[in-house]
Amino acid sequence: MYKTGFGYDIHRLEAGRRLVLGGAVIPFREGLAGHSDGDALVHAVIDALLGTLGEGDIGGRFPDTDPRYKGARSVDLLADVVAFSRARGAEIVNVDTVIVAEEPMMGPHVPAMKAALAPVLGVPETSLGIKAKTNEGLGPVGEKRAIACFAVALIKLPD
Ligand code: MG
Repeated sequence: MYKTGFGYDIHRLEAGRRLVLGGAVIPFREGLAGHSDGDALVHAVIDALLGTLGEGDIGGRFPDTDPRYKGARSVDLLADVVAFSRARGAEIVNVDTVIVAEEPMMGPHVPAMKAALAPVLGVPETSLGIKAKTNEGLGPVGEKRAIACFAVALIKLPD
């Protein structure tokens, strides 16, 4: 049996924060706000994976009121969710994502993101899509006040 899941996240850009996206540190004048490292791409992937199993969302699993997750590396949270889905018998088939950001240019950083995330997901880099686009200057993302991310995941479960 196969199941899909969908995830979305958006974080504000804020001065004085490191920009961490897709597990990669990206040189930029601002970073994503958040209780954790603010990695909106990984958060969207986590929600997509939890969605495949009908297991709610990242906020329910890692509450931002819990001091244990303050400054957490989102990749570590992803590893926890991958282990959880494996324990439920799931094999991750592929994950596809879209980053929506006006700045900085994401293209040059996609290889680092794939190198960071594919091993955590346990998939080859050919089964992890990371695409980036701008928001054409429209809305808070277009005005460089936030970065948004979308993700879908496909898992295979025993019949
Ligand atoms: Mg988030």
